[in-house]
Amino acid sequence: MIFSIDVEDWAQSVLDNTNSVSNRVYDNTLLLLDILEEHKHKATFFTLGNVARKHPELIRRIADAGHEVASHGYNHDAIFKLTPKQVMEDVTNSVKSLEDASGAKVIGFRAPNFSIREYLFEWYCEALAENGLKYDSSLFPMKVIKYGIEKKYSLKIFNEYGINEHYLSYMKIGKHKFPFFGGGYFRLLPYSVTKHLSSKLNEERAVFYMHPYEVDTGELAVVKELYGDIPLKWRLSQFVGRGSVETKLHKLMTDYEFTSFEKEFYSQEQEKKTILRGLQGGRTTSNVASAFDTKRDIATSI
Ligand SMILES: [Zn+2]
Repeated sequence: MIFSIDVEDWAQSVLDNTNSVSNRVYDNTLLLLDILEEHKHKATFFTLGNVARKHPELIRRIADAGHEVASHGYNHDAIFKLTPKQVMEDVTNSVKSLEDASGAKVIGFRAPNFSIREYLFEWYCEALAENGLKYDSSLFPMKVIKYGIEKKYSLKIFNEYGINEHYLSYMKIGKHKFPFFGGGYFRLLPYSVTKHLSSKLNEERAVFYMHPYEVDTGELAVVKELYGDIPLKWRLSQFVGRGSVETKLHKLMTDYEFTSFEKEFYSQEQEKKTILRGLQGGRTTSNVASAFDTKRDIATSI
């Protein structure tokens, strides 16, 4: 299974994206690094560019621990609110800030709030491909309150740009699909329910997701003091259940083996390209490299 974390600061990414990035994201991410280390699992950290600029040493620690640093955009702006030029700038700035901080090549992207719509596919894939990215994990193949795409869609454009799509996991009841494997669903559902539902997933491609702030039980009081009262619907949807997450994570990591997208799907490709570079005196050709393209069957229409 893939373990993915969207590294962002709650007050900046959710409450108001003009707020500055606080130190809470740093401490919360360190706690997740400790839990992963305890269970010897690896993860993909989809990180905002603004977090990398504020806390470059955090990005270095993630990379040094053997996890994958991937991009979550720069400032957590929804893709559908940006022009094509702004999408390109956002992806470029975030990738650059993450690569500067980690010293490693970024190959993956997750759009803030899974804010992808079918009409954006072309601009979006162009921005990803232009920045050398190889995969995306932004599609919720079902409609929920804030995100997701309900109708059947084609990933032809993704394939044309050489972007593999790893959509989020879901359960199916009749014709309907429901997300459950991460975020607020993980916070609010009893672990026994998550375990029961996740036992039906295809472990090879299941994707769990969460945010560092979901282990932060002290944030609500601080946020209230800094920014005033938080609307009830946000208190319920964003803060309830945080106290249970750490314990549930230990159970989840005991029950399953987790890794990063890079290690699961792309490390072999990187190794083969390194070997090729050696064989060819430091040069690869696109024809030769494409013979080792990773599992294209991942990017199929659903
Ligand atoms: Zn996010």
